[in-house]
Formats: sequence, C-alpha cells, structure tokens
Amino acid sequence: MKTIGLIGGMSWESSLLYYQIINQHVKKKLGGHHSAKSLMYSVDFQEIKTLQHEGNWSEATRIMIESAQKLEAGGADLIVICTNTMHKMAREVEQSVSIPFIHIADSTANEIVKDGIKKVALLGTAFTMEQNFYKGRLIEKYGLEVIVPNEVDRAVVHDIIYQELCLGVIKEESKQTYLRIINGLMQNGAEAVILGCTEITLLISQDDCTIPVYDTTRIHAESAVEFALGVDFQG
Ligand code: GLU
Repeated sequence: MKTIGLIGGMSWESSLLYYQIINQHVKKKLGGHHSAKSLMYSVDFQEIKTLQHEGNWSEATRIMIESAQKLEAGGADLIVICTNTMHKMAREVEQSVSIPFIHIADSTANEIVKDGIKKVALLGTAFTMEQNFYKGRLIEKYGLEVIVPNEVDRAVVHDIIYQELCLGVIKEESKQTYLRIINGLMQNGAEAVILGCTEITLLISQDDCTIPVYDTTRIHAESAVEFALGVDFQG
C-alpha cells in the first residue's frame, strides 16, 4: 500500500472527512484491521483564505508547493490537495514533486463520464465556479457541458462556504437556499450536480436531490485509496 500525502486544513472540517473516508475505503477494500497509510500537512486556513481573497495567488501557490514537498520528504507516495479551490495551482504543485498527483476534477469527471452524464451543474467557491482552472478542465479534457448559478447566487453559494461551512456551521436555511439554486440549474438542463467544494457535502447529500450528486470529497478520497492500493487510475 502506498502512503497518501494529504494537504489539508482547507478547511479542517473537510480534511476530517478525507481522513475518515480514506480509512473507511481501505477497510472496505482490505477488511480486517487495515487502515490507510497517510500523512497530512494541515495549513492554517486563515492565512490561505486571506491570500485567496486578496488575490495573492503566488504566495498561496508557494505554500501549496512547500506543503507538497514536505509531504514527499516525509515519505508520501502521492499528493492529494483536500480542496477544489486550491487546484488552481495544481500544475505548479504537480511539477514541484516527483510523486503522482491526484487531481480532484479528474477523479470526479471520470465518474461523471462513466455514468454517461453530459451536462453538469457546478457548485463551489466563486474561484472554482468562475475561473477556468476547474471548469475548463471538465470541458476541455472530458467534453462536459458545465453550468453554474447566476452572479447573485454564486455570491450566496460562496459566502455560505466561507462564513458557515468552513467554520462547521450547518444551517437548514442555507440547505434550502442551495436546494433552490440546484433546482434552478436543473431547470436549465443540468443532469447532475457537482459538489465542487469539499465542505458542501456537510450540507447537501444525494437524499436531498432528484438528480445525481457528485460529492468531490468522497470521490477524491476514494480515488486516492484506489491509487494507493494499486488500482488503475485514469488521470
Ligand atoms: N474546501 C473548499 C473547496 O473545496 C473551499 C475552501 C478553500 O478555499 O480551499 O474549494
């Protein structure tokens, strides 16, 4: 079994889920008392959030690269960044280490394509919904049609992530807001929805929706396990 290197803390609310899911998945695959070999380098999210919102992506990239290199030096065999947003610098991080990098959008798109879905809604931070690093990969590499909420609703989705979910605050009212937005995207032809932020799974689950829900936290964590156990991974 390979050792999974996790860059966590963005936020720790979702890193907790990664740790749980990778261990549950190893147990499911290997049984007995098996658990995942892993290392987590967990950052201070206040620093990252500030850099993101100031647009200081070069410093944020430096921190991600340093974290990945620390994991590699510590014995990790693969790198997982436990957030969608910080895949903005995926290429730089991947190039800074000599171990494989498991891209969250690849893991997610592979499942979507396998299920024959063509048009998906994407929910996430404004960075993820509005910039090209994530949407572009889904469109160009996997031929998916990707739709996002309108500008007002994108701001609502973004604010709920940072002001509530990343702080562990789960409100019924926010859940209903997300469901209203997902419903609107369904009316616009979305066949499925990507929970493209690793905390949204704290608020929304498949049981809440009538279209398939792609939970990037679960998908990414499980695909890291598949890779660690030597199962073929298409990146
Ligand atoms: N965890 C979130 C994501 O998946 C947002 C926090 C962050 O900015 O990294 O995008």
